[in-house]
Amino acid sequence: TTSVDHQVPPSSSAPAAASPDLGTLQARSISAWFGEHKVLDRVSLTMNAGEVTALIGPSGCGKSTFLRILNRMHELIPSASLAGEVLLDGEDLYASARRITDARRQVGMVFQKPNPFPAMSIYDNTLAGLKLTGVRASRATRDDLVEECLTKAGLWKEVRDRLRAPGGALSGGQQQRLCIARSLAIRPRVLLMDEPCSALDPTSTRRIEETIAELVAEVTIVIVTHNMQQAARVSHQCAFFLAEHGTPGAIVEHGPTEAMFERPQDPRTSDYVHGRF
Ligand code: ADP
Ligand code: MG
Repeated sequence: TTSVDHQVPPSSSAPAAASPDLGTLQARSISAWFGEHKVLDRVSLTMNAGEVTALIGPSGCGKSTFLRILNRMHELIPSASLAGEVLLDGEDLYASARRITDARRQVGMVFQKPNPFPAMSIYDNTLAGLKLTGVRASRATRDDLVEECLTKAGLWKEVRDRLRAPGGALSGGQQQRLCIARSLAIRPRVLLMDEPCSALDPTSTRRIEETIAELVAEVTIVIVTHNMQQAARVSHQCAFFLAEHGTPGAIVEHGPTEAMFERPQDPRTSDYVHGRF
C-alpha cells in the first residue's frame, strides 16, 4: 500500500512532492494534425517551474490542442497525430516505456466548464483522481488530503461543514475551485488550465486568480485565457498563438508578460494584446 505522503506508483521513480525545481515543461517543435488538417506548426515553448505561462490568441489557433498535447490527452482523440517532443523535467512525456496515466498524473488539467461529478460528494470529488494513480490511503490520510487540497483551492472554509453535500450543489466558481482541488490531490508537477474563468463571474474569477498566484509556488501553471487583463495579472510569461489565413497555429511571439504587453516585437502581438484584433 502506498500512502499519499509518498504517493509514487511502483513503476515510477518520480519524487513524492513537488518542489520549485520540478515541473519544467518543454515543448519542442510540436506539430499537430486532426486527420489531414494540420493545426499546429512547430511550436516550441519552455514553461518554467515556479511560473505561470499564459497562452493567448484568437479562437481556433490551437491553444487547447497544444494544452492537451502537454498531458497526452491529445492521444485520446482517434484522428489526432503529432510530431515533436514534450519533456517534463528533461524526460520525454511520450517515451514508449512511459504510461499515459503517468503523464496525466504529473500534468493535471482544469477545463473551461467546471466538471465535478454533480451527484458525488464534495469530499469524494476531491479524491476522485486518486484512482488514476492507484494510491490507497487510510481514512485519516484522506481526510487530511481533502482539507489540504480544498484549502489550497480556497474552498475549505466554505465547505468544511458540508463535505457530504453533492458537488453539483456548489456555485459555478466553487465548482471550479473543487475541480482545482481534485487536480491537486494527485500532486501534479504541472497544472494546465483551459480558460478556467470563462464561465465565471468577476468575483469568482478574482478568487481563482488569487488561488493561481498561491499555487504557483508548488506547481507549474499553464493557463489559456482570452482575458488580457487576466494574462497580465497572473502570468510571468505569455505566448501569443496565431493561425493566419488558414495556416496552422504557431507562436508569433513569447516572452516575459510585461515585455509582451509593453514592448511587443511583432505588430500583431501589439494589436492582439491591445484588443485591436
Ligand atoms: P483554440 O483552443 O485556440 O480555440 P483549438 O485547439 O480548439 O483552438 O482548435 C485548433 C484547430 O483544431 C481548429 O481548427 C479546430 O477546429 C481544430 N480541432 C480542435 N479539436 C478538434 C477535433 N477533436 N477534431 C478535429 N478538429 C479539431
Ligand atoms: Mg480552446
